[in-house]
Amino acid sequence: MKLAHWVRPHLLQLKPYTSARDEFTGTAEIYLDANENPFSSASQQTYNRYPDPHQREVKQALAQLKGVAEAQIFLGNGSDEPIDLLIRLFCQPDKEAIVITPPTYGMYAVSANINQVAVREVPLTANFALQPKKVVAAAKAAGVKMIFLCSPNNPSGNLLDRSAIAEVLQGFNGPVVVDEAYVDFSTEPSWLHELHNYPNLIVLQTFSKAWGMAGLRLGMAFAQPAIIELLNQIKPPYNINQLTQQEALKALTAHEVMQQHVQKLIGNREKLIVQLAAASCVEKIFPSDANFVLARVTDADALYRYLVEKNIIVRNRSKVLHGQNCLRFTVGTAEENEKLLQALASWNS
Ligand SMILES: *Cc1c(COP(=O)(O)O)cnc(C)c1O
Repeated sequence: MKLAHWVRPHLLQLKPYTSARDEFTGTAEIYLDANENPFSSASQQTYNRYPDPHQREVKQALAQLKGVAEAQIFLGNGSDEPIDLLIRLFCQPDKEAIVITPPTYGMYAVSANINQVAVREVPLTANFALQPKKVVAAAKAAGVKMIFLCSPNNPSGNLLDRSAIAEVLQGFNGPVVVDEAYVDFSTEPSWLHELHNYPNLIVLQTFSKAWGMAGLRLGMAFAQPAIIELLNQIKPPYNINQLTQQEALKALTAHEVMQQHVQKLIGNREKLIVQLAAASCVEKIFPSDANFVLARVTDADALYRYLVEKNIIVRNRSKVLHGQNCLRFTVGTAEENEKLLQALASWNS
């Protein structure tokens, strides 16, 4: 493992910002170090003090729950923040590249584009399977610095084959991101348990889906401590706000609520799949290990518009690779799914 060769050279020398809360970490009676307002907040809740820049309490609870060390955890403003920071950490603008496997989550390419980093595409097969040999071959080309995989994959919903991911991790001497935004809905164990086997593995998870906290913006990256340390040096100092840290702690101590939601959603998903399959406008349903289902319908654009008229918004994925005439349905409550199915039944294509 040659972390120094993976990282953009100037960042190895970076002198990071040190905040007031870095320079003094104990407890004191009077804080006159951070230019905060000593009275209170103009809002009803009190947020006049800067939050913990290292989110120690959240990481403690998370480390316990996930069975990893605190030093293996990075927290971001959604997973979108670590996606951007990882590209900025490893890839030189106008010079280097990432590999992605379309159709997949859009933010990898968008973040790369924003950072002027090239994107090499190695498509999944028409059944959304990873092609590990092709991915490794593309990643070995000059200038390629990292690989993004997504499992379960968005928008297809399927898990990528475990041995195929292992082949990529073994075949590429550089960071490989496995985005597990939907892992809680899946039957397979997380790649978190493989961190000690693969120093180049970076696992992304999020509070936005199973935890039901998309509005708070909290994402997680897990990797070897040296990578986490580098992410911490380049992040905005107070990237996770006070409210989010408080709510995340509460959620982590009540994680059985999350598990209950997940169980319900998996049940609803299985029922939705059976019912969708019986709808005359549905031609094919792709296997899902996530909280959504991708289905090929007779006319995706027309059906999408029809559902909007009926006040039901789904995701039209008919323009993405292998997604011809495909709509992506998020699994809702039993009532929501029922209304969707009624609308589908009333549509005459
Ligand atoms: C929803 C989703 C995320 C989550 O992004 P946040 O910024 O944490 O809300 C990450 N990756 C994939 C593949 C997703 O579908």
